[in-house]
Amino acid sequence: MSVGAELGIVGGSGLYELPGFEQAATLRPDTPYGVPSSDIVVGTLGGRSVAFIARHGAGHRLAPHEVPYAANIYALKSLGVTRLLSVSAVGSLQEQVAPRTFCVPDNLIDRTVARERSFFGNGAVAHVSLADPFCPAFSAQVVEAALSASELGVTAGGTYVCIEGPQFSTRAESELFRGWGASVIGMTAFPEARLAREAELCYACLAMVTDYDVWHTEEDVSVELVVANLLAMASDVAGIVAALASLDSHTCDAGCGHALDDAIITAPEAIAKDVWERLGPVAERYRHERPTA
Ligand SMILES: [Zn+2]
Repeated sequence: MSVGAELGIVGGSGLYELPGFEQAATLRPDTPYGVPSSDIVVGTLGGRSVAFIARHGAGHRLAPHEVPYAANIYALKSLGVTRLLSVSAVGSLQEQVAPRTFCVPDNLIDRTVARERSFFGNGAVAHVSLADPFCPAFSAQVVEAALSASELGVTAGGTYVCIEGPQFSTRAESELFRGWGASVIGMTAFPEARLAREAELCYACLAMVTDYDVWHTEEDVSVELVVANLLAMASDVAGIVAALASLDSHTCDAGCGHALDDAIITAPEAIAKDVWERLGPVAERYRHERPTA
């Protein structure tokens, strides 16, 4: 493919386009994992080649459990993306993580129940490490960009609980998650983080804190409240993404780009040709680099 990008941005609720983005091409690829959420817009931002995709589709038509996460990441990987920033709206589980601030989480708890969570299967088994689902170095750059481009405040670190949704959580669940020490709650980081790791991308999340989740009895979370705060934060998000794009690429020492090393347990010669082909760019180098493949 002649069009390419190094930095991928998945825009969540409240981020459907990027101001200042010089668009060069609009792509609508088909992948073995389906069609991505939206057209993929490729261009330059801050002097860097960037690919942008709207997670919930044009007009926000896809619920969190309907997002074609695998298709999105497969398509971005095909374009050459090595770093993926997830922008997503979250609720706060901690008093000090205030609405209308940002959080760059450093870990995840998966409470989703019915989502395709791996590129592998069908005779190709892989077990990647997910101990630290976010790239530390890339996340540090996201924090740096947030501090330089916004005055809203950013919490560096914290655990993101990903629920299935689309309903918000119950008060009992919210208290349970607080008891687990989690900081924020959202609906999209899984399986995105799993698939980004399998695709060997450096993955980080810029979480927009829109509300206190329902443990906080002052005002229960509603779409109206979330949208009002998303709108209030939108221009800051655009500034942060532009600042991130203009930073020099980080040096990853966490091994994100080699996540599949020693992870594919199936003997390469036992993996059928059509299975390799379905995996495509995700496992390309293992197909060809392994001496017995
Ligand atoms: Zn990394």
